[in-house]
Amino acid sequence: MWQTLVHYSNHFLVIFFIAWVYSPTQFWKAYLILLSTMLVDIDHLWAVPVFDPDRCSLGFHTFHSEIAIVIYVLGMFLFKQQWIKLFCIGLVFHIITDCIDCLWSGV
Ligand SMILES: [Zn+2]
Repeated sequence: MWQTLVHYSNHFLVIFFIAWVYSPTQFWKAYLILLSTMLVDIDHLWAVPVFDPDRCSLGFHTFHSEIAIVIYVLGMFLFKQQWIKLFCIGLVFHIITDCIDCLWSGV
């Protein structure tokens, strides 16, 4: 239960804080951009089975692959446009959240 709570708190609540720190004047725009990073989980749809509690997303799903993660990290530093940079920050935070879940599950 704690694992699920932490996982979804990171995906929905902690990004509230990140959005507020990143852009207090355009908080909702920042929050929606961070929320949109959940779209990378669309790659679960072409996995069989779609959901497997004993599988770690990292390194398995397309948008959770090592190459994708490197692109997200580089994007945080290379993009100058603040909203694209924030999107990359959100993707990295998404990966960190999934990583915590994998470590917690021991998979
Ligand atoms: Zn994910």
